[in-house]
Amino acid sequence: MASVAKEWREIPGRYNLIGSECKNCGKIYFPKRSLCPVCRRQSLGKMADRSICRKGEIYTFTVIYDAPDCNNRLKPYAAAMIRTDDGVMVTGQIADADLNEIKIGMRVRAVLRKLDSDGASGVIHYGFKFVPDE
Ligand SMILES: [Zn+2]
Repeated sequence: MASVAKEWREIPGRYNLIGSECKNCGKIYFPKRSLCPVCRRQSLGKMADRSICRKGEIYTFTVIYDAPDCNNRLKPYAAAMIRTDDGVMVTGQIADADLNEIKIGMRVRAVLRKLDSDGASGVIHYGFKFVPDE
C-alpha cells in the first residue's frame, strides 16, 4: 500500500479528490455516491465522477475528546467541514495542526493518510485528512 500513497502524492495539480455530480440537479457530493439524496430515483444512472478541488477552508469544526478506540487514532482530534475552493462541502479529520490553533476560515488541503490498520491481518486503511495549507 505504500506505493499507492506514493502514486497519489505524485499526481500533479490541485484537483484529485473525486466525488459525484448529480446530472439531474447539479449537486456535487464527496465522497462519491451512487444516488442523489435529493433526486433519488431520478438520479439513477445520472451520477457522474466529478473532480473536486483539494484545497479549501474550514467552514466549521469540532474537537472530539472521546471516541471508540481504534489503532493509531490519536485523541483528541478535530473533525471539520471544509468548503473547498469550488464550493463543495467535505467532512474530514484535521491532521498536523495544534488543536488550539484550528480556526474557522483556516486554509487546508486534502492529503492521503493512513487512517488505521488492522493489527491481525496487517491491512492498512487509507483515506483523506486535511492539513494546514500555508
Ligand atoms: Zn440530484
